[in-house]
Amino acid sequence: MSGVLSQDIKFLPGVGPRKSVLLNEELKVFTIGDLIYYFPFKYVDRTKFYAIRDVNSSLPFIQVKGRITGMEMVGAGRNQRLVAYLTDSTGLLELIWFQGIKFVKPTLKTNVEYIVFGKPSEFNNQFSIVHPEMDEKVPESSKKEGYIQAFYNTSEKLKSNFLHSKAILKLQFAALKLAKGYILESMPAWLVQKLGIEGLESALMNIHFPENPQLLQKAEYRLKFEELFYIQLKLLHLKEDRHKKFKGHIFEKVGLYFNDFFYKHLPFELTGAQKRVVKEIRKDIGSGRQMNRLLQGDVGSGKTMVALMTMLIALDNGFQCCMMAPTEILANQHYVSLQKFLGNMPVNIKLLTGSTKKPDRKVIHEDLLSGKLHILIGTHALLEDIVQFQTLGLVIIDEQHRFGVTQRAKLWRKNLIPPHILVMTATPIPRTLAMTVYGDLDVSVIDELPPGRKPIRTVHYFENRRAELYEFIRQEITQGHQIYIVYPLISESEKLDFKNLEEGYEHIKKCFPSPEYTIGMVHGRMKSADKEKEMLRFKKGEIQILVATTVIEVGVDVPNASVMIIESSERFGLSQLHQLRGRVGRGAEQSFCILLSGFKLGIDSRKRIETLVATNDGFEIAEADMRLRGPGDIEGTQQSGIAFDLKISNLAKDGQILQYARDIAETIIASDPMLEQPQNDILKKQLIALQKNHLNWGSIS
Ligand code: ADP
Ligand code: MG
Repeated sequence: MSGVLSQDIKFLPGVGPRKSVLLNEELKVFTIGDLIYYFPFKYVDRTKFYAIRDVNSSLPFIQVKGRITGMEMVGAGRNQRLVAYLTDSTGLLELIWFQGIKFVKPTLKTNVEYIVFGKPSEFNNQFSIVHPEMDEKVPESSKKEGYIQAFYNTSEKLKSNFLHSKAILKLQFAALKLAKGYILESMPAWLVQKLGIEGLESALMNIHFPENPQLLQKAEYRLKFEELFYIQLKLLHLKEDRHKKFKGHIFEKVGLYFNDFFYKHLPFELTGAQKRVVKEIRKDIGSGRQMNRLLQGDVGSGKTMVALMTMLIALDNGFQCCMMAPTEILANQHYVSLQKFLGNMPVNIKLLTGSTKKPDRKVIHEDLLSGKLHILIGTHALLEDIVQFQTLGLVIIDEQHRFGVTQRAKLWRKNLIPPHILVMTATPIPRTLAMTVYGDLDVSVIDELPPGRKPIRTVHYFENRRAELYEFIRQEITQGHQIYIVYPLISESEKLDFKNLEEGYEHIKKCFPSPEYTIGMVHGRMKSADKEKEMLRFKKGEIQILVATTVIEVGVDVPNASVMIIESSERFGLSQLHQLRGRVGRGAEQSFCILLSGFKLGIDSRKRIETLVATNDGFEIAEADMRLRGPGDIEGTQQSGIAFDLKISNLAKDGQILQYARDIAETIIASDPMLEQPQNDILKKQLIALQKNHLNWGSIS
């Protein structure tokens, strides 16, 4: 940044020491440049004037021109207010102030033309504007009759110190006046020209003070493009850099383990998506670069099989593998199903969790070091320093968002040459988010379920259909199926929720009495061992109805469970509902998900429920979730350790610009991977500047 932009904000005329502290604290604005990069959140078209006659209370913000014919104080005490009467040739409008009367009153003049701006309301057939914005229509300031006005987010604290949106706009005016002529172009000239985008200075001027709607649009495009482009360039550069630094193990062979399994043991035909992903992985791990791949696939899409086949390739090349799951139940489940898949193949596979007995651990540790053990499945226990491999070649991580970045790094360091890494997640994230959060990783997607799976039928019931629902449960149980009933348990209202859960459990026990029915319960307050015991009883079919909290959200496979009932479903997030639904529909039978809710539903709750009823596709749901909640809140991103501070782009809306930015960044990196050519000098400098700003962008391992 040039000198002017890096100047302390307190030196900007109109700021001073007190306001500068507020700007630092509330808006993270420290320099004049920071202020200029504090962009408006909306614009109001003030080129249009209404005749007072046409004003009505259903209009949003409007502006009118008129003169004040008189004013008076009305009411007493707390109700006291100042009313001014504004007229044009068509009618009368009341302007009302409840606060700041002593400041406002002396400034109001009769017989001066004002431009008045605000939100109209109606009372007793009379239209009024409360706390309007008033501008005297003096000739020199109205060279242009109207304009497009930018609005800025402020805080209560700022507002009470006179730093409301309009004041920030004034500061922007002062800042841009100082900066004009000193704003250096931040993209290479050849690129600006090639893309036909606005220059930086013009874009910054027009983003705050748009000359017209076309220039505003161009300014927005330029600034969004730049923001997304540099993120992509950085991620791609990082990836290139890592590939250069870390030679990966080369798994070039596909040998006996893989082929034997593929031709003699594979119990089903792979889906097209599974085949494609295995191919993508094979190409990656044979290339001599370290693989860092994210595998996204909906619940039940068959990620485990892809993991197994990848592990067999590692074995074929003389390497060991490990696979890490977030809970003991899941690790155990993987262990059992992998053993079953492998049958009598000579693969030495073991399970290591917190409850593995000491003597067994000792054997595992020894066999890992000697190379006798091929595959180790486990939980966090794998991360302990004592767990050392002879030649770890591949790490598989299931349900990625439960592991933090530092935990992954620990696994990574278990070898001199880092192992290939495959991270699997059943919480799909929208494409634009994946491109940004995991933009330096390769992403594979399984977007197809194994054949013969019947889509889960999802319905929404209001409370009053409970009797009907219980009748349905009885029928399902008669047919030998099992039922989940899930209650919300949110930490903010934990006590109350817990009571609901226990009452729900008692109620179900009453409606489904023993000995005909057996009811179980699991929740987060139980001891881990008790939880697992109860889950196991459910898995074995000894329990027909399992009353639970979201502890069952991740991964346990009970193919015989055909009904998922979610109590107070309006209180769950979209991706959580989808995860819960994924607990059923794992067998051949038709499965059901019933979303119960109260009658009163907020707009967002209603949309969430409607989305879930409408589609089973995890990716569609993720997109909807991002639109509803905004990209910063999507599950799986908070834990990724990435700070989201996009200043102007919105990943929910700017997908096209993002894709274009990534394409351009890819072309540049392909022709100049280390950005060494002189025409890319600016790019390199900007990346270095960015590096300082967000240290933890990107890399997963
Ligand atoms: P997830 O992706 O949720 O981890 P799993 O790997 O647990 O899914 O697979 C779900 C079920 O589907 C398992 O019982 C698995 O054996 C089965 N499965 C996986 N791939 C196929 C396939 N191509 N054809 C038939 N069944 C499959
Ligand atoms: Mg799984």
